[in-house]
Amino acid sequence: MTTRTPYVLKGETGDWEVVMGLEIHAQVASNAKLFSGASTAFGADPNCNVSLVDAAMPGMLPVINCKCVEQAVRTGLGLKAEINLYSRFDRKNYFYPDLPQGYQISQFAHPIVGEGEIDVDVEPAHGGEAYSFPCRIERLHLEQDAGKSIHDMDPNSTYVDLNRSGVALMEIVSKPDVRSPAEAAAYVKKIRAIVIALGTCDGDMEKGNLRADVNVSVCRPGQYEKFRETGDFSHLGTRCELKNMNSFRFIQQAIEYEARRQIEIIEGGGTVDQETRLFDADKGETRSMRSKEDAHDYRYFPDPDLLPLEIEQAWIDEIKASLPELPDQKRARFESEYGISHYDAGVLIADAEKAEYFEAVAKGRDAKLAANWVTQELFGYLNKEGLELADSPVSAEALGGLIALISDETISGKIAKDVFARMIAGEGEAAAIVEKHGLKQVTDTGAIEKVVDEIIAANPEQVERVKEKPQTLGWFVGQVMKASGGKANPKAVNEILKAKLGV
Ligand code: ADP
Ligand code: MG
Repeated sequence: MTTRTPYVLKGETGDWEVVMGLEIHAQVASNAKLFSGASTAFGADPNCNVSLVDAAMPGMLPVINCKCVEQAVRTGLGLKAEINLYSRFDRKNYFYPDLPQGYQISQFAHPIVGEGEIDVDVEPAHGGEAYSFPCRIERLHLEQDAGKSIHDMDPNSTYVDLNRSGVALMEIVSKPDVRSPAEAAAYVKKIRAIVIALGTCDGDMEKGNLRADVNVSVCRPGQYEKFRETGDFSHLGTRCELKNMNSFRFIQQAIEYEARRQIEIIEGGGTVDQETRLFDADKGETRSMRSKEDAHDYRYFPDPDLLPLEIEQAWIDEIKASLPELPDQKRARFESEYGISHYDAGVLIADAEKAEYFEAVAKGRDAKLAANWVTQELFGYLNKEGLELADSPVSAEALGGLIALISDETISGKIAKDVFARMIAGEGEAAAIVEKHGLKQVTDTGAIEKVVDEIIAANPEQVERVKEKPQTLGWFVGQVMKASGGKANPKAVNEILKAKLGV
């Protein structure tokens, strides 16, 4: 595996590097909201999933939803993080038309989950080898989501839909350990894979159930290392926060644009203002949304309506014992159990469906061959056609059948590709296709010898050449394969040719 190399941006006055910390808002998988019994179902009519608590009617009291707490603990354990037995809810005061309380209930001074760490797997976009890096997690806390203002229903009025008001979110905050646009996207992918595996968030980014704020700053080479040695943030540049990114492609584009914008400002003699910016996907640029508030602007104070949250170690241990297999564990198991590469294992565990499909194909068969066929032939085909695995015209069972025919040498790998194309076209099972079109591999040495003899007799010049240059044997192999309609067993062809030509 390659090591991590700095991502360098060239400026007018020298090189720059980027530093990023991410805040991910993940909607907690729970049927009810964080402090009320109202439903969290997506797509309900506006304002139908709103209790009196969510509408902030005077005198209403929030009641903590135990399921949401459990999901936060479960996620913390999946992030290999410290679970705090004592945590507390604070009011974060601000005005928004879609926030009827006038404050958001969040956790500020005492979050439920403390420091953790995850391994992030990066596949650089512009070629280059895959690598992993550790990203430290600062904290995870629980908080309420706000409602939604609707500006496009009426030319003169704004409407508000409070269905989302009070839905539980987990805010997962990373340390500033992310160092390139590709790493930022990979970090979000990894968090998403973990929460999906845990069942604590459905990870649906299109619905906004998982969205990322990316804090971006730029610095000169060497500064980041000083920061890591001392923990002193003054070695880093001023950060801007890019809000609510919910696509991997936009995350990378936005960071790229933002880093260059900051470099231009600094090189022009200006200073970067700490602010919140929005990415305009159509224009491909970020623009200022508001200057960034500091914590004291929110006038945080403990919510007097809620008691501190105290949980017991025994309960945490119980949750820990029930954790499913996580992506990193699954990857390690695939490598050891199936003997496949770290890279292939990474591709296969990227989502649970792919992993399940692969395991069904590999069961009782040549697992390496299965991994090749699934990741290259099948995924290659699906990608090209823009299809999801669920729409695959070839089931795991059917692909397994094809692989079994390659393993027992009924067909060659080359013929198998032809059979696979016919399976995609709907011709049926591999064995039936091989039978119908007479594609069985010829392993009968007598038959192969006959073809070999004919070709040797017809090409005396090539025979002279191969004796001087044994590496030209491939030409003969090609001729024999062609003459046999691709059906001769390549291994047998090689052996017979070598024996007859004495190379
Ligand atoms: P806030 O709540 O005001 O956004 P936080 O202290 O929670 O502030 O930090 C938010 C995120 O910003 C964290 O992920 C942190 O790692 C990141 N961050 C802090 N300083 C920098 C910096 N100089 N450059 C890039 N990211 C930073
Ligand atoms: Mg924050």
